[in-house]
Amino acid sequence: MNWLATLNESQLKAVIHPGGPLFVVAGAGTGKTKTLTSRIAYLIMNGVEAKRILAVTFTNKAAREMKQRVIEMTGPHAMSVWLYTFHAFGLQILRNHIAELPYGYRPNFTVIDEDDGKKIIQDQIKELGLDTKEYSIRLLKNLISLYKSNRMDGFERTDEEKIYQKYQDYLKENQLLDFDDLLLYTLELLEEIPSVRERYQSHFEHVLVDEFQDTDAIQYKILKILGTKHKNVFVVGDPDQSIYAFRGANYENAKLFEKDFGAEKIILEQNYRSTNQILKAANQLIQYNFDRPSAKNLESDLGVGEPPIYHHAESDYRETFFVVNEIHKLTQRGYQYDDIAVLYRNNALSRLFEDSFIKSSIPYIIYGGLSFYERKEIKDAIAYIRVILDQSQDFYLKRIVNVPKRSIGLVSLQKLEQQARELGVSMFDAIDYVKVTPQAKGGLLEFKKLILEMSRDFSDMVELSQITPYLMEKTGYLEMLKAEGSEISDDRINNLRELQSVFTRGDIYYEGSFVEKLTEQLDQIALYTDQDQDVEEFNHVKLSTYHQVKGLEFKVVFMVVMEENIFPSDRVLMQPAELEEERRIAYVGITRAKEKLYMSYADKRMVYGSMRYSYPSRFIQESRVKLDQPKTIYEGDYVSHLLKQGDKVEHNVFGIGVVIRVDDDIATIAFAMPHGIKRILESHPAIRKI
Ligand code: ATP
Ligand code: MG
Repeated sequence: MNWLATLNESQLKAVIHPGGPLFVVAGAGTGKTKTLTSRIAYLIMNGVEAKRILAVTFTNKAAREMKQRVIEMTGPHAMSVWLYTFHAFGLQILRNHIAELPYGYRPNFTVIDEDDGKKIIQDQIKELGLDTKEYSIRLLKNLISLYKSNRMDGFERTDEEKIYQKYQDYLKENQLLDFDDLLLYTLELLEEIPSVRERYQSHFEHVLVDEFQDTDAIQYKILKILGTKHKNVFVVGDPDQSIYAFRGANYENAKLFEKDFGAEKIILEQNYRSTNQILKAANQLIQYNFDRPSAKNLESDLGVGEPPIYHHAESDYRETFFVVNEIHKLTQRGYQYDDIAVLYRNNALSRLFEDSFIKSSIPYIIYGGLSFYERKEIKDAIAYIRVILDQSQDFYLKRIVNVPKRSIGLVSLQKLEQQARELGVSMFDAIDYVKVTPQAKGGLLEFKKLILEMSRDFSDMVELSQITPYLMEKTGYLEMLKAEGSEISDDRINNLRELQSVFTRGDIYYEGSFVEKLTEQLDQIALYTDQDQDVEEFNHVKLSTYHQVKGLEFKVVFMVVMEENIFPSDRVLMQPAELEEERRIAYVGITRAKEKLYMSYADKRMVYGSMRYSYPSRFIQESRVKLDQPKTIYEGDYVSHLLKQGDKVEHNVFGIGVVIRVDDDIATIAFAMPHGIKRILESHPAIRKI
């Protein structure tokens, strides 16, 4: 157990704690997660059976990494530690016990994601004879979620309540669960079914929670039930990093925990992640918050380090150039793309950076955003697989019955749904009976035949990696995309190939029969939320929102688009509590950086198609106010334009030309006749300065 020697005194005290409730409260980068994984390893080394340990964290990615660490420390039997997100834990429990709840759910229920949920809501509004245009589906989905997670007592309007009821009925009838259900039903099982409660209360001997500051009320209740017998509850958290209040996470839980369990507290003081100028920026920033249950200053032994670099750009384009140029310089100095993260407040801000990375051939991946699994072609493929596995999945059938086109219009589909309802069978089974136009009937029968054939072929399959190529061919999906022949359809084909790599990995991860492996893989996919994506991470710059990099660290961090009204967002400016949450988000951002921190902002930016002028975020000033020598690079001092007036260039097609003007990233260039004046992206690969 020589890894015990890598812990400091307070960490060690927590790791070898004799048991009972323990609360490790500590700032960013002080080794909370390391302490928690070491604690699990320590328990295993001291004879606690791995399967008697439950540890929960916030993202699937973190859960996987932590499990990996524990296995490295103690060996492969640590595989059976229950290391999950709360949602994934709920899913496990529900797969075993959901039939014990009085709702008619069977163990093979399906988990739907946000987007599926919204589609269902929309359908239910139509079913109720209401006008979908009158409603914001997103808002309704939020309201329903608030209600289901006990954060709202009731609906203000009767139509909203009706839609909720209809939505909930639809889920039940179709054996579907949304994310809120995963927690809600798990809690219900533990509260209402004594045999289930007792079973898990005695099964788990130790319960551990990372990122405790972001647990919500339902999660806390689950935790409390599971820990109440043995009281071996080990939680770690940092109130300054609480950034999910908008989803109902509540620092009150810390008070509850102290009250319910009378937990002993251990505080970790020393940061091991960042150099001190970065920590100073973080300390200064967070001091502007009044609501700080345990104020603390971060310090490390890693030296003074470089001061954060603040960059003031003329425009949004110039800001991306700055970032691109810095990344080039960093890689020349020996940094890897992997070491670098570009962080922003919300997903919509990624596109400019993506575009400029593509143009300058910087490999990147996006955490979240339009997550891979939310893309149409991926959802279509998954829908096919679900229907092949279970033909009664009406919801998924509707998604793909006419993709590729099989002459089945909306009216025929409605008739089919109607017929199914009258006969009390699935839409699939109603195909033989429904009366529609001959073309539509032909299409439906063709679809039915296809699904049955595929279902037979599935029973011969062994490897998950066989699925995607088979689906793409057999369904005609590939042919359809090829026939479209657009750039978008090429992307779609590539995404489907990427899906194949997901399945290929599934073959390695999961055990059991083909169908068992596939079910696990589909569960896993359903659990990917937009905050948690599973992508290969080999040497790419990471583009991400702050929320998606919780708990992670990078040598270099760019905090971009640091502008008032964006970060902090204009929604919150009048409300002190929300402004403080925004500040904690900035604090999470700063504390991800190990060696280099950049903050950048622009004077003007295109927002929804119109140019907006902006002011630097208050967080810039707050974080730099007392730094020894904060470094600011103003656009004017910095040659980031690739071209300037008077430059001579050579274009692959137009030949030699002279730059007349540069606006943002567009150069106006005069070429010899017959080409004349052209406006071209200054970084376009076809142009070369000569
Ligand atoms: P966050 O609040 O961001 O989740 P954390 O408190 O969980 O941070 P860790 O991620 O566990 O912190 O640790 C931060 C870094 O410090 C990691 O690289 C970890 O390996 C390192 N570290 C932690 N404790 C020690 C130690 N005692 N000696 C050396 N390195 C350490
Ligand atoms: Mg951590």
